[in-house]
Amino acid sequence: MAATPITSLALEGKKVLVRCDFNVPLDGTRITDPTRIEASLETIRYILGRGGAAVLCSHLGRPKERTPDLSLKPVAEYLSGVLGRKVALAPDCIGDITGRMIADLAPGDAILLENLRFHKEEEANDRDFAHELARGKGVYINDAFGTAHRAHASTVGVTRFIQERGAGFLMIRELEALRAVTENPAHPYVAILGGAKVSDKIAVIRNLVTKVDAILIGGAMAYTFLKARGVAVGRSRVEDDKLELARELIELAQKHNVALVLPVDHVVGETPDAAAVPEVVVDIPTFRMGLDIGPRTVAEFIARVTPARTIIWNGPLGLFEVPAFAQGTLAVGAAIANLTDATSVLGGGDTAAAVAGQPWASQFTHISTGGGATLEYLEGKVLPGVKALEA
Ligand code: AMP
Repeated sequence: MAATPITSLALEGKKVLVRCDFNVPLDGTRITDPTRIEASLETIRYILGRGGAAVLCSHLGRPKERTPDLSLKPVAEYLSGVLGRKVALAPDCIGDITGRMIADLAPGDAILLENLRFHKEEEANDRDFAHELARGKGVYINDAFGTAHRAHASTVGVTRFIQERGAGFLMIRELEALRAVTENPAHPYVAILGGAKVSDKIAVIRNLVTKVDAILIGGAMAYTFLKARGVAVGRSRVEDDKLELARELIELAQKHNVALVLPVDHVVGETPDAAAVPEVVVDIPTFRMGLDIGPRTVAEFIARVTPARTIIWNGPLGLFEVPAFAQGTLAVGAAIANLTDATSVLGGGDTAAAVAGQPWASQFTHISTGGGATLEYLEGKVLPGVKALEA
């Protein structure tokens, strides 16, 4: 079964509750990257154009109670600017004042509710809170793919109380892209995994090992695998409590005849920051840490992705925030974009940030806005926020 698309729902004259992912990075009250807001504009404009009134809601950060620094006010101002109409910020996401503001909305109006996580009941998926959130709305649209793996009041609980519900355009795009790389993927099928921790990716590796032809591992997580294989990794970031598990995953890949490709050279430094002096090595010196994949590894990864017809990628291959250690991530990214005609899906906030602004970034089939949600999808899990949209 699939989630009902927004285009199947009658919106005219309705108050439409829209769960968005406006969890944007802030510097004080300045939005430093509005990508997530921009990603939901199509859905919002569609609702307004169809004569609905949009009641937008989102979380921002991880507050446990009302926290003025995490108000959605900057988002309301940004939305007012790009939509060319006033998007008022309600003082809360529930309650009488907010209820009256919603009741007063005319078709084509939009309002933003204050941060859902100012109420601990949101994450607890509290029934009464979900009921309050649903009050006065005739349609529910979920466009927040990034939180679809969480069963919260605004992603799951609320659907008990609004019969007319479906997926927004962003949610639909995200799910279609992930479906394209998981259901009957064309081979060769290559997965690239990077980032900080093996622990985040264990379930993904277990699931992908029965589906892909090769798993290329970079980033800090590669050092746990290398150490598990008996390679000296100096001061590289290693999860010592995951060595046994890494060995198990290496064996699992062998059993399924999947190439598990680890770095054969490295760009090392003394500390994981901009002060580190980069040096390319094959053997990591005792007092250095691996901070990026080296040129031979880059060549090996490019040779693996070039013939691929399906590619998924989650996690940067090095300390990409420091330009000297971003080269591996960028070289492999450029190769996927320029050298292959594979269906390519890149997921995770860090990976998206690493390639953002590159002239070739638009050549990926899809860059997902969701990190955790993408990983859970790739683990083979049903996302609760998506399941709740099924008719
Ligand atoms: P994740 O949140 O698991 O996707 O990890 C992303 C973070 O891992 C980014 O901040 C990267 O800078 C960091 N990272 C990637 N490779 C390395 C490395 N070799 N050493 C230290 N940090 C790394």
